[in-house]
Amino acid sequence: MHHYQRVTPDIVDALKNIVGERHVLFNDEEKLKQYSHDEVAEIKYHSMPEVVVKPNSTKEISAIMKLANRELIPVTPQGARSGLSGGGVPAMGGILVSLERMNRILEIDRVNMMAVTEPGIITNDFSSAVQKEGLFFAGYPMSLLTCYLGGNVAENAGGGKAIKYGATSRYIIGLEVVMPSGEVAFFGGKRVKDVTGYNMVQLMVGSEGTLGIFTKIIVKLIPLPKAKIDMMVLFEDLQTAIDMVPKIMTDVGIIPTGIEFMDRLTLETSCNHLGQSLEQYKNAGAVLIIEVDGNDEEQILNDCLDIGDLCTEKGALDAYVAQTPADQEKIWAVRRNAAEAFKAISPRQTLEDIVVPMSKIPQVLPILEKLSQKYDLFIPCYGHAGDGNLHATVVKNPSHTEAQWQDLLPKVLTDLYSEIYTLGGTISGEHGIGNKRKQYLPLVLGETEIESMKSIKKALDPNNILNPGKIFDIE
Ligand SMILES: Cc1cc2nc3c(=O)[nH]c(=O)nc-3n(C[C@H](O)[C@H](O)[C@H](O)COP(=O)(O)OP(=O)(O)OC[C@H]3O[C@@H](n4cnc5c(N)ncnc54)[C@H](O)[C@@H]3O)c2cc1C
Repeated sequence: MHHYQRVTPDIVDALKNIVGERHVLFNDEEKLKQYSHDEVAEIKYHSMPEVVVKPNSTKEISAIMKLANRELIPVTPQGARSGLSGGGVPAMGGILVSLERMNRILEIDRVNMMAVTEPGIITNDFSSAVQKEGLFFAGYPMSLLTCYLGGNVAENAGGGKAIKYGATSRYIIGLEVVMPSGEVAFFGGKRVKDVTGYNMVQLMVGSEGTLGIFTKIIVKLIPLPKAKIDMMVLFEDLQTAIDMVPKIMTDVGIIPTGIEFMDRLTLETSCNHLGQSLEQYKNAGAVLIIEVDGNDEEQILNDCLDIGDLCTEKGALDAYVAQTPADQEKIWAVRRNAAEAFKAISPRQTLEDIVVPMSKIPQVLPILEKLSQKYDLFIPCYGHAGDGNLHATVVKNPSHTEAQWQDLLPKVLTDLYSEIYTLGGTISGEHGIGNKRKQYLPLVLGETEIESMKSIKKALDPNNILNPGKIFDIE
């Protein structure tokens, strides 16, 4: 039993006083329901908020947190709900703080190559705004058209360019944070170097909304690369395709911007979802999408030719370069829509986020094949192969009953995660633990590691008010 209080009409009135009546949703099941889930398909991970508030300032969020602490009501921060681990779902009910109104870019500082933004800005809008100033935000989650930068920080989002540019954490150097107590802290600043005490910025990045609510974010930017080339390489079979991934880097000797992998079932599902023809993929069993960027167009074209030659030498069916921005977009749209396409077919599937050291990536597909045979399921696979992160998607066999699926799923996941762990891998590369994976955390982290994390949570949030029920349970 938890110790939380319910949201009463008096609490709702107090919240209306803080954010304004128009920005509080209460007693409206249909509207509240929109905030009860993220992109995790399984309904058991959805949960209704008691009230939704849409603050517009740090001060308002601070007042909400102070009220919630006093009244012992759980608070869940939520971005665009594109999360894939249930992180933004109000697992214990209570107050849902939507960051949707805090979407202003406060400053683009060209001299320092930094930007200061509120957390509710859509990632793609942020990227476009800095690009107009000749600057580049290298974050490229496949959900960038919808997700918020604050959500990217909270999940330490990776994506299609992480192999060359790293995940979100590399670019976050300052954060204004409303702490669980309601006090406001500013960690870091516009400094490239800073060892003034603990690195609280990086503790906050990836904390899945459990340690504080970010209200301002300082993002380090880099000069916008002048050119980029996207290419597609088709392979007859999965293993030849995935075997190429480490070789592209070691044998050609370059780090591409991205190397994305898709198997045939993913290609078919995503193309069907988009209404795109499969003709260009011929009879490929798998494809790699490879992007190379830089400032010297001739150099990157030569790099692409070298990659194409190597792949063909090792058995690729075909390799071609996207000739126009429309071609580039067509290639990437199929990859970006893969998750959505599987979800549209059936909610009886789980999108996984396993990650292994890059050298071990060829060993992942045989594990998936073995498990799909053992449990008589489909496990299509796609993902950011270049950084070792694959989105194996366990899909219910239509001939299984619902009870069989519910029985099999934890067994499949336990086997999968255990095997991935033996390769030096772990259960999430970028989507986080949330409420979806918390039962599996002990498979990959020991007691000392988990207890250290819990100590931090208890020290910063003694009432366990902020986003309870995520990552691990606090007794
Ligand atoms: C089609 C699709 C493709 C995707 N591709 C990628 C990908 O390539 N790479 C990748 O990393 N992820 C990917 N994701 C997952 C998801 O988009 C990311 O995790 C994203 O960062 C979530 O952002 P959001 O704004 O939707 O956050 P939400 O889902 O709303 O919340 C995510 C977490 O952030 C917390 N949070 C949100 N805002 C704040 C804040 N201001 N302060 C503190 N905590 C906060 C929430 O409490 C929650 O724990 C994909 C999702 C989809 C649906």
